Amino acid sequence: MNTCMKYLFVFPFMLTFLVHGQTSPSDHSTEIWQGKQAAVVLTYDDALNVHLDHVVPDLEVRGLKGTFYLSAFFPGSKNRIQDWKKAGALGHELGNHTLYHPCDASLPGREWVSPDNDLHQYTTDQILKEIRMTNVFLESLDGQKERTFAYTCGDTATGEGSFVAAIQDDFVASRGVRGAMNRIGNINLSNVDSYGINGQTGEELIALVKEAQEKQALITFLFHGVGGEHSLNVSLEAHRELLDYLEANKDLIWTTTMLEAARHVKEHQQ
Ligand SMILES: [Zn+2]
Repeated sequence: MNTCMKYLFVFPFMLTFLVHGQTSPSDHSTEIWQGKQAAVVLTYDDALNVHLDHVVPDLEVRGLKGTFYLSAFFPGSKNRIQDWKKAGALGHELGNHTLYHPCDASLPGREWVSPDNDLHQYTTDQILKEIRMTNVFLESLDGQKERTFAYTCGDTATGEGSFVAAIQDDFVASRGVRGAMNRIGNINLSNVDSYGINGQTGEELIALVKEAQEKQALITFLFHGVGGEHSLNVSLEAHRELLDYLEANKDLIWTTTMLEAARHVKEHQQ
């Protein structure tokens, strides 16, 4: 294309900018979320069998990809190694959710945490070893060097204090548990906000995506059980309704893995 031709194409956009004093929403969105209104990241925690048996097939038929946070020593992880390898080969992200899933027993409502799995009794060096060994395990499944992390129970500290900075170079991003929309300008990649899902209807899940579209935000869903296997659960039907909406609106919504979304945010922030 010669220079004159370029101006012919660019001129209408320049005119829009001059008349309105700012880019229109559709022009602005080309900078963020790959030109779509919103980004959606679907995350699934704790290496459950239902993720392999229901979620991966339901994502695949719709051409969608998810992020699965595996605690490496959980039964649904260590007993399904070949299936997780297949999920990784299909392009789903295998994220790090530690080796043994320790949580801070000193916090309210944590009576269920066993003493040997109490993150408050860990040193920072201990959790680092556990997290880095899980990266070795995950690389043996998918061959990938880069991935994201999810804080177990959302906990970010051992008995020695915060380990957020200590894992910064090990991951492209880390997912937290605070339910909020992520705006590209102020997203905290060390603790990405996510909505914990438990019992919502398909309509309620879709309403959250619509809110993200209105706000040009990244929304992250945090699922555990999908059609069972966990006390925090969403029905298969509600989950499928959400996926149907994401598939039907692919031209408006960028559904991607946490890894891809975080890479995009980093590029945008630089
Ligand atoms: Zn978990």
